[in-house]
Amino acid sequence: AKKSAPFGLCHISDDGMQEFDRYLAIKSHLRQALEKQELSLSLQPQVNHQGVTTSFEALVRWHSSELGTVSPGDFIPIAEESHIICDIGNWVIDETLKTLKQFIARGFDLCVAINISAKQIVQLDFASSLLARVNYYGIPTQMVMLELTETALVVDIDTVKHTMDQLAKCGFRFSIDDFGTGYSSLAYLKELPISELKIDKIFIDDVSTRSNHNGSPIVDAIIDMARALNVTSIAEGVETPEQVEYLISKGCNRFQGYYFSKPMPVEHWHNTNLSTKTS
Ligand code: C2E
Ligand code: CA
Ligand code: CA
Ligand code: CA
Repeated sequence: AKKSAPFGLCHISDDGMQEFDRYLAIKSHLRQALEKQELSLSLQPQVNHQGVTTSFEALVRWHSSELGTVSPGDFIPIAEESHIICDIGNWVIDETLKTLKQFIARGFDLCVAINISAKQIVQLDFASSLLARVNYYGIPTQMVMLELTETALVVDIDTVKHTMDQLAKCGFRFSIDDFGTGYSSLAYLKELPISELKIDKIFIDDVSTRSNHNGSPIVDAIIDMARALNVTSIAEGVETPEQVEYLISKGCNRFQGYYFSKPMPVEHWHNTNLSTKTS
């Protein structure tokens, strides 16, 4: 007979129990991940119509001595339940800026996109501490794109708008990540200093699964909306040449996905020739 653990009146299956154990294990080991220097950074290129890398998205990686490699899809939501996400987020910001400084020193003209969680952006000192870090490394603010999800925007819209306005005035740019999967109202979008809409992979997936290539009405709508709002559009999770062709035909500005490159550890990019300053 199948064992099930009693939790009051409800019963949890073995699978559910294993999931819960895993959750607890991640939660307890995550605290030490930073001290034990188990986090690292991967960078994934974002390319223009010519296939030239113009920027990178910074993606955190965790190799735990106890749990092995844990994907951000598993540990970021758990980190977001507590203040740990702010510590991880600060580490990611610092590490990304450090890397960008090294790229700039080698003459590469690149921007970088950093994922910012809701809990981070509502910290009262978020803007000032980010500005302090960027100044410390001597990086032009225009080179830093901050990726926020629609969910992060609506948590505390007044605080978030204030912080975004402050940072935008200093030259930072904002991208709305996973656009179309949340529920930000169009009114918000008009009010906030946004530079880019990032079309979620689930919509890009639609494009290639249609054998007759008649595309995805949602992708079309987001690209049109970006144009109407006078911001750029970028597609994530681009995996096939058909998707690239379709997105270009619709006027999508930039692309990111396995078709161009998987996210690779920072060291990989230190040994790669990137686009050099032209002006
Ligand atoms: P995201 O911001 O939507 O990042 C895109 C995810 O899609 C990344 O997964 C990336 O590796 C993956 N990806 C990129 N191109 C392709 C493709 O062509 N095909 C497929 N199948 N996947 C692709 P990853 O690195 O596992 O990150 C998952 C999520 O974890 C991210 O989703 C983001 O929400 C979160 N995350 C990652 N790093 C950070 C971070 O430093 N801070 C915060 N707050 N969240 C992070
Ligand atoms: Ca992102
Ligand atoms: Ca995304
Ligand atoms: Ca996504």
